[in-house]
Amino acid sequence: MHPRRSKSARRVSRLSASSTYEEDERCTSAMHRRESTLPNISATADRQTLKWTDLVKPNVPLPTTPEDVLNLAGMDGHGNGGVVVGALEGGGYCTKGLFRPELSCLMRSDGEPFCAVCRRERDKFFAKLAK
Ligand SMILES: [Zn+2]
Repeated sequence: MHPRRSKSARRVSRLSASSTYEEDERCTSAMHRRESTLPNISATADRQTLKWTDLVKPNVPLPTTPEDVLNLAGMDGHGNGGVVVGALEGGGYCTKGLFRPELSCLMRSDGEPFCAVCRRERDKFFAKLAK
């Protein structure tokens, strides 16, 4: 097995495992109602209406699976799942029904960088402060 692919496969496996949350009170209709106000969570993986569709490359399938991320990241040579923006099921700490932009994000796991959508929101926030 190619070492880079092996490392990526382990990373995807780890991130997939850490993204499986117990369905609990955080993941009820309250989170689904909040979805419309949160820029990094979507109730749809539809390319036409996805909030961050401008960041999704045409070759990324929607909805996006961790395996899609691994395949695409491998193809573009980064070997890092964080570089693929799509719509991965498991947003808002829910395992089903809500989508997130990337496999990992600081908003989801400490120690991970922000995803592209959260980076954009952060930049907008600081740009407003600077005015
Ligand atoms: Zn994010």
